[in-house]
Amino acid sequence: MAKTINFGIDLGTTNSVIAKCSSGKVEVYRNPLSLKETLPSVVAFRKNRILVGDKAREYLSKDPDNVAGSFKRKMGTTDAYYIRSLDEEVTPVSLSAHVLRELKTFVHTGEQVEAVVITIPAAFDTIQSNATKEAGQEAGFRHVVLLQEPIAASLAYANRHEDDGVTNEGQWLVYDLGGGTFDVALIRIKDGEMRVMDHEGDNFLGGTDFDALIVEKLCVPEIEAAGTFQNLLPEMRSAKGRYNRLYMQLLHKAEEAKIQLSNANSADIEMEVEDDEGEPVELCITIERAAFEALIDPWITRTEEMIQAILFRNSIEASDVAFMLMVGGSTMIPRVRERLGEDLGLHINCNIDPTNAVGIGAAYYAATRTWSKEINLEKKTPRAGQPAVQKLEVRMAYQKTSQERSEYFTALVTGDLANLKYRITREDKGFDSGLKALADRIEEDLPLVPNTFNYFRMVVYDAQGNTVIADLPDIGIAHGKFSVTGQPLPNDICLEIDDLENQSTTLELVFRKNEVLPLRRTFLKTVTRTLRKGSSDDILIQLLEGPEGALPAANQPIGHIAVSGAKLERDLIKGSDIEITIEISESRDLRITAYLMITDQEFSDVFKSSRRYVHPPKLADELEAMLDKLQQEMARNPDNDTLIERANPILDELKALLKRARDLSADDVTDTRYQLEDQKRKVAQRMSDITKEQEITEEKLEYTRARRYCQYWMDKYGTEAERRTFEEALSMEKNVLRSNVGARIRDAGNRLWSLSFTIRWRTMEFLSSYYLSYLLPQKAEFVDQARAAKLIEQADLALGSENVTSLQNAISQLSELLPVRASMQMKFGTGIG
Ligand code: ADP
Ligand code: MG
Repeated sequence: MAKTINFGIDLGTTNSVIAKCSSGKVEVYRNPLSLKETLPSVVAFRKNRILVGDKAREYLSKDPDNVAGSFKRKMGTTDAYYIRSLDEEVTPVSLSAHVLRELKTFVHTGEQVEAVVITIPAAFDTIQSNATKEAGQEAGFRHVVLLQEPIAASLAYANRHEDDGVTNEGQWLVYDLGGGTFDVALIRIKDGEMRVMDHEGDNFLGGTDFDALIVEKLCVPEIEAAGTFQNLLPEMRSAKGRYNRLYMQLLHKAEEAKIQLSNANSADIEMEVEDDEGEPVELCITIERAAFEALIDPWITRTEEMIQAILFRNSIEASDVAFMLMVGGSTMIPRVRERLGEDLGLHINCNIDPTNAVGIGAAYYAATRTWSKEINLEKKTPRAGQPAVQKLEVRMAYQKTSQERSEYFTALVTGDLANLKYRITREDKGFDSGLKALADRIEEDLPLVPNTFNYFRMVVYDAQGNTVIADLPDIGIAHGKFSVTGQPLPNDICLEIDDLENQSTTLELVFRKNEVLPLRRTFLKTVTRTLRKGSSDDILIQLLEGPEGALPAANQPIGHIAVSGAKLERDLIKGSDIEITIEISESRDLRITAYLMITDQEFSDVFKSSRRYVHPPKLADELEAMLDKLQQEMARNPDNDTLIERANPILDELKALLKRARDLSADDVTDTRYQLEDQKRKVAQRMSDITKEQEITEEKLEYTRARRYCQYWMDKYGTEAERRTFEEALSMEKNVLRSNVGARIRDAGNRLWSLSFTIRWRTMEFLSSYYLSYLLPQKAEFVDQARAAKLIEQADLALGSENVTSLQNAISQLSELLPVRASMQMKFGTGIG
């Protein structure tokens, strides 16, 4: 039986929220102790207890060695938090699971929380998403669906402001400035369905940075003036420093002061400290609002730049955007709202509670989703002795979300339909189609209950009224004004394949950024080197996340399977086919299947929990490789002013990043390496944008050359069938060229080259010139001179008698006598191409 999910969770960097939607109403649960809706995402380990939330937060300054916070920033990495009292490392996934378990206790009705929607930032990649799901599983949820935070915030807004009118059709921005992260997303709604069109963000920009600024820029000078303090700031920031505890306490006070400043012109920080000489020092530091605003102004500017980048990329103006929805606790700072309104000319929309909107939206979304307790993915095979189940296939088609009073449903049925009947009923018994004869194609108008999830069941009966098929998938249709079409992929996902021409590997696009999940695609590839049965060699099929045009090293490996010689039933010969299927579910589970035609074997694996490990030396190497590539690109195009102009700042940035990466020790404990990794990937994206344009221009030129060449031979010697192939290729040309994907254009060009080759290869005109002006001049190079002499004799004869077949023969064999060019031998690589 399928049930709706109902529960929604905002698992935030700083604060988390749990909410439930039933009959169209959302309830945000409160902490049974503090009665607050938000639970600080902080976990403290006491002797034999684990504290989560406000209580845990108190220990951040009292006992920092046994407390962890802000771990969302490290989701999906190999980094763990060392907890002194346990003498153990606790992973970000486990810490998140503690927060999730604590949230369960907020549900005062005693209801089991078995299935939930958990929100993630739009920028979360596959690894980070998988880590979030895993935390849900560790917390005991049986079903976890992920939802992007800006979509959640928009759902909260749209469902609560149905009368606004702006939300049926149009686009808006979601500006989410929380405790540790900043995200901005462009949301578009069409026919009541919404999607994230684009997003930008910074995982290291938020309220906690403002707290640190208050401490470091405003408090430290005053403390230094009030007593004897040597090296105050370094002693504060270092974990073992003399004033580390003071730092933690001040951060806490600074946050309180910051929040007061949202409603007052000044706030005081008071406390007592001991200086280097053990003298007590009374502190009373007044923080003026103007001083605080001056501190955060550059940070606000950075968020504005990201907004502008989105507008620019999508070719839209501020006036094309209905409003900018403000979410996240830090948007309560008046200065943030004022500046954005003034600087960007956007309508700033503060109509939702910025701290619980994401949780509320998650709950709305949950109410449109179902899950089933018995999940059985295995195909049932009839047991021996039992008659095989009648082979009947039913393929259903309908809209999963609807704004209409009823929804059109159709199904195509194949198999032996004689004497069979079907019946469709709605779960609440409000609709029953009655028994009807099964046909190749059936159609029904399914009436919908407004603003809720409707689900129908179809059952097939035989003439005696016995059930033939009862396990057809449920027909689920969410009725409501606002629904989510599907969640887009935040980055390109590519397959790494051998590039024989350049002796390296390149990326082939599997799924494009912003394609809507779930996705599935099958590729036919060739094996580029022979893999012997029983050998220890293997072929690696690797998937990477990141821009298609980038270097493989600049992207993030997210999963791979190895086809190993040891498991082969027969040799896998170079040139044989391998069928690779890649699937990614809505919740980002990834499955790769490789089917080897030649041995009829299948290799398959599901990936859930790969981890990102950022190793500073490797990071530096990757940055260096990027720097090299960019410098080469610039050297190749010294006269391309636009390219140089755009490349220069990237070059400087790469150099700066490289220096920081080189300066980092391999065991550095701070977040810096992740921050650098983050920036590296952003630079890689920008770099690929400009180098891609260049490459595409070249590919297009090459394509045009191939087409002209093919046209020439086609006009002269093409057959009817070849002409059709050619015309088919031309009909797709516009799309191919417009796709702006280098590999696609190159592929299309290569197909034309090989078509023209097939034609030329039949003609005396080509064969003779190939023989006379290409092969013969290399006469001295042939590896077997005696055999070559015989073949040359054969070729000369064939040339005289115009015997095409004989000349083709001689030419093929002579070509094989030429020494193998080094570039055609692949020494390394993935083994597929
Ligand atoms: P996250 O999404 O990162 O979990 P939130 O959206 O809950 O975080 O935002 C938390 C941040 O908002 C904290 O840094 C907190 O100090 C800040 N904040 C909360 N209320 C206010 C306020 N009234 N004025 C300024 N900052 C605030
Ligand atoms: Mg948040």
